[in-house]
Amino acid sequence: MTQKKQILGHPVGLYVLFFTEMWERFSFYGMRGILILFLVASTKGTNPGYGWLEKDALQLYGIYTFLVYLSSVPGGIIADKWLGQKKAVLIGGALLVIGHSILATQLLWAFYTGLAFIVAGVGMLKSNISTMVGGLYAVGDDRRDQGFSIFYIGINIGAFAAAIVVGYVGEVYSWHYGFGLAGIGMAIGLLIFIVGQKHLQGTGDSHKKHTAIQSAAQSMSLTKIDKDRIVVMLISFLLVIAFWAAYEQAGGLMNLYADQKTDRTIALFKATIPASWFQSVTAFFIVTLGAPVAAFWYRWKKNGKESSSIFKMAIGMIIMGWGFLFMVAASFQFQSDGASSMYWLILAYLFHTIGELCASPVALSYITKLAPLKYASSMMGLYFAATGLGNYVASWVGIWSQSAGELQIFLGIAIFSTLLGLLIIAILKPLKRLAHAAE
Ligand code: GLN
Repeated sequence: MTQKKQILGHPVGLYVLFFTEMWERFSFYGMRGILILFLVASTKGTNPGYGWLEKDALQLYGIYTFLVYLSSVPGGIIADKWLGQKKAVLIGGALLVIGHSILATQLLWAFYTGLAFIVAGVGMLKSNISTMVGGLYAVGDDRRDQGFSIFYIGINIGAFAAAIVVGYVGEVYSWHYGFGLAGIGMAIGLLIFIVGQKHLQGTGDSHKKHTAIQSAAQSMSLTKIDKDRIVVMLISFLLVIAFWAAYEQAGGLMNLYADQKTDRTIALFKATIPASWFQSVTAFFIVTLGAPVAAFWYRWKKNGKESSSIFKMAIGMIIMGWGFLFMVAASFQFQSDGASSMYWLILAYLFHTIGELCASPVALSYITKLAPLKYASSMMGLYFAATGLGNYVASWVGIWSQSAGELQIFLGIAIFSTLLGLLIIAILKPLKRLAHAAE
């Protein structure tokens, strides 16, 4: 629904969702950033952890990042069938505050309970708030992609701040203070969402509240066009799984590479950059490059060039894949010099980010364009489940690199991503026909 009041050419509601999601991601990435470190930290000392083996911690991490997105499927269905997205986001936010607060306590039983609350909370919130962004724009409104790019910048401001603040407080003071801080962040997000309700009228309501015309449309069963579009979405999910399986090497393989094989010293300051700081590089690039990349595609479209979402996603896949070529170069340098320059990592992350900006916000926008209203949240839930599956595959690729060799894995990902992107571009026409030119 188009709202009357606007800021920077977008409905005010977009900024309510922006700040809510910014704080939700602050809590999510803050907690995720210290989870592994907490699990492997020794049980003794001033800031004790659980003293787990690295492989056990990585395994729990892989399962957690999978479940946390898989839960978007029931979250989406519940919103579509009963609650509407608005109520689902409220409940999700509350579950997240509870989950993080439980982790802030030091009780052992509380650990898994806290994680379970977070999985359920993200499931109710993440996909539904994304669907709500789409609900702010009428069918055919060409600001939709840009709206999602702005929303995506909010996500990454939260992620960037979390890596610095929660990481620091958790590592230096107490893991539990870090978890608590994540909880406070989510509470602020929830408050913003509640206070901003008046700007969200007409979006994210339960289907029962829709107007007579809309409810008539709701009750109709799926048309052939709807079914075709669902098929296109499912095909694009294959790209999504592959994209995140490659991209999410950032937290595992590339994180370890930064830690163990990269020269992180800055001679001028006689200082060494902590490996964990490299985790905030992509979020930083997204915040700085989000607007230029969105503006680029906007102009591209205005010039009448190919700018369908699937095309942008395929280009994003290729650009992200090329980032791994810098890691191949880094591996060669490591083999000859015993350490590789950190600039390779930064260049790799730069390409990953540009690829992500072409693919990820666009995919969110695309789903809100294509999914039948009745199943909007469920399709968004499936999308996030696909990203979760990508995360899970990423952890296996990381483990695989230990036997295959990381240079081979980096090169393999670059080639695979390029070929997959080109394949999608090659079959673009039939795909677009199947989507019945939704854009
Ligand atoms: N980094 C993005 C976010 O946190 C995308 C995550 C995803 O799609 N799985 O929203």
